[in-house]
Amino acid sequence: MTFLSKRINNLSESQTIKMAKLGRELTAKGIDVINLSFGEPDFFTPEHLKEAAKKAVDENYSYYTPVSGYPELRKAIVEKLKNENDLTYTFDQIVVSTGAKQSLANVVLCLVNPGEEVIVPTPYWVSYSEMIKLAEGETVFINATVEHDFKITAAQLEAAITPKTKLFMFSSPCNPTGSVYSHEELASLAAVFEKYPNIYIISDEIYEHINFVDKHASIAAFDAIKDRVIIINGFSKAYAMTGWRVGYMASNKEIANACDKLQGQITSGTSSISQRAALAAYQNGLETVTAMKDEFKKRRDIVYALLKEVPGIQVNLPYGAFYFFPTVKDYFGKSVNGNVISNAEDLCLYLLNEAHVSTVTGGAFGNEECIRISYAAAEDQLIEAVSRIKEALSKLS
Ligand code: PMP
Ligand code: GLU
Repeated sequence: MTFLSKRINNLSESQTIKMAKLGRELTAKGIDVINLSFGEPDFFTPEHLKEAAKKAVDENYSYYTPVSGYPELRKAIVEKLKNENDLTYTFDQIVVSTGAKQSLANVVLCLVNPGEEVIVPTPYWVSYSEMIKLAEGETVFINATVEHDFKITAAQLEAAITPKTKLFMFSSPCNPTGSVYSHEELASLAAVFEKYPNIYIISDEIYEHINFVDKHASIAAFDAIKDRVIIINGFSKAYAMTGWRVGYMASNKEIANACDKLQGQITSGTSSISQRAALAAYQNGLETVTAMKDEFKKRRDIVYALLKEVPGIQVNLPYGAFYFFPTVKDYFGKSVNGNVISNAEDLCLYLLNEAHVSTVTGGAFGNEECIRISYAAAEDQLIEAVSRIKEALSKLS
């Protein structure tokens, strides 16, 4: 559409959102679709957070909020970073946004000039590459493979760095692979960044609490590079608050001020009511978070055992987040009733139409050989979904 800007015409539609939309359309037609495409906890927001929001309405938290968020919320985030992560920040280093997605976009737009390079390990979360496109940056991908648990090495990182590198962007625990970098692995990456003082690092830690190995490790823990690390986090995943739209970033003051300026011209501060609920989340301990994590772990184990039994797919054990990212390339070239599966996107559409299970193509995350399956769904639905997937795949030859 020529009247639209090149900027928007060049942008890809979010595949996670597209598949969720297709799934909803089939559901509206009365088809029993199991939605494993969208990455959001199926749990309800904990009661005490809903109560905090209701109280905020009654107490007239109805005015515009400070662009960077209520000071009391930013102070609670500082406390959280100290107590849970042993990281020291001041409240003017925190900017609260309309979801971690906006925090990420803010930082990319504030740091990247046209033509500058951003290193992104693949598989990466779907929106990273498009945010870089919006900033007119160049994405340099590092291919992390299933054989290496979808994690990159320090040598791979160093080989990707050029004089034009401005930013490195990754998530751990990772969406879509569930891989988790250990403190030691992060130390080896930090040692590389120490040698390149002009590179900034976005550390997307939104799945911090959905981690089945041990304590969450952050690359901001390395003092030599901490000033160049931007932590991204939020309330969507840990507190089942996806629709409330609260995320935040923590960084040096210059980057925080820049994000405040950008946000002040685009959205202003996020919802007053949501911020009051987020404050309650950080003031009331991790009980609900731990209960949710335990449930995710149970589901992960069930789905892993079932997926291992599906012929023709290769699956790694995810240590965090709530996704499986199996390799499905053995099915490429196979067909049923003239319907040829050429790639992962075809396979996802086939699974949606044949098995009524929605998943997302790996291509959306920079890996054309895989599909992403979210296991943020009830246990019985997950069991039924894998059984339907297995049956649909068995029809392909
Ligand atoms: N980063 C990652 C890796 C995600 O999976 C998501 C999920 N949507 C986000 C950021 C954005 O989260 P939100 O905007 O809901 O806070
Ligand atoms: N982060 C989730 C996902 O990856 C939500 C969808 C989105 O925000 O793109 O599916």
